[in-house]
Amino acid sequence: AAQLNPKYIFDNFVTGPGNQFAHAASRAVADRPSKTYNPLFLYGGVGMGKTHLMQAIGHTIKRNNPEHSICYVSSEKFTNDMINSVRYDKMTSFRERYRTVDVLLIDDIQFIARKERTQEEFFHTFNALHEQQKQLVIASDRPPKELAEIEDRLRSRFEWGLIADIQPPDLETKVAILQKKAESERTQLPTDVALFIASNIRSNVRELEGALIRLVAYSSLTGGELNLMTAQQVLKNIIDQQTRKVTIESIQKACAEQFGLRIAEIKAKNNSRAIVYPRQIAMYLAKHLTEASLPEIGRQFGGKHHTTVLHSVDKIDEARKSDKDLNRLLNKLTESLSG
Ligand code: ADP
Ligand code: MG
Repeated sequence: AAQLNPKYIFDNFVTGPGNQFAHAASRAVADRPSKTYNPLFLYGGVGMGKTHLMQAIGHTIKRNNPEHSICYVSSEKFTNDMINSVRYDKMTSFRERYRTVDVLLIDDIQFIARKERTQEEFFHTFNALHEQQKQLVIASDRPPKELAEIEDRLRSRFEWGLIADIQPPDLETKVAILQKKAESERTQLPTDVALFIASNIRSNVRELEGALIRLVAYSSLTGGELNLMTAQQVLKNIIDQQTRKVTIESIQKACAEQFGLRIAEIKAKNNSRAIVYPRQIAMYLAKHLTEASLPEIGRQFGGKHHTTVLHSVDKIDEARKSDKDLNRLLNKLTESLSG
């Protein structure tokens, strides 16, 4: 399994309203592995700190129990390991390796969607570890019930312990993250510059860091002062890119991904239930996030009549008011599309 990143410790993690709960849950698990929540299931968008938190759990457990074996692995690595083990007839050692750890941290579990053999193997790994009361921590870009194409028995196990989401940081948290980061790089970051970055870079923390790194590199390479004017100039390109236009294609792609469908299925004439709802959501987003007219949207969704598009838009609009999950999903899609 991969090494833990030494930077991903609790001390370097800034908390705010969006991640407080996930952070507290992670601390609880780190302090008392297998005694609190098992599994701990963390979910949230890209760059929200899931990997950071799960590795922080690993570091803490390791520090408190040096004899514990901790395995951090992405679900892709798990899949590749398994494929290789099958090919070279090494399944016994594969199982031995994953079923004897004290703590299994498995990242980006959404990537085992559609991989039946991997799911089967992971199911048994999960059971073996859980029965021996070994701690499991799972990270995902979405909650278990939205993991389309992952078999039910596995999905339901993901709900056995505690599920904690991470929402995007607010402005104050973003500023605090930047200041913490600058501090650890021994850089002076004026408050107005931190505020400028935080309010102009989308919520993704990784991009926030990227902007800071670029700014620091620029001023150290040119010997210039790290001030607001430099920041505006250096980050202009990044900021312009962010206001990119949302297209119907990007909406179709995001919705297909979200529901485990192919883009062609969303665009096709097929009216099976599994596809109609995702398609209605996609048409709804197309209406709200692009300039496209109803007939144009209809055309791009398999030649639908504009009244059909309108009906979908109204339906989702209405459903959104009472359906919290749908509302959250729409917010998430909107953010990732236009962020
Ligand atoms: P995810 O796994 O959710 O995509 P990561 O854990 O890889 O996100 O986080 C992306 C980057 O942002 C990492 O460098 C991480 O250290 C940093 N980061 C994210 N959230 C925080 C936070 N709350 N405090 C400090 N750093 C953070
Ligand atoms: Mg990650």
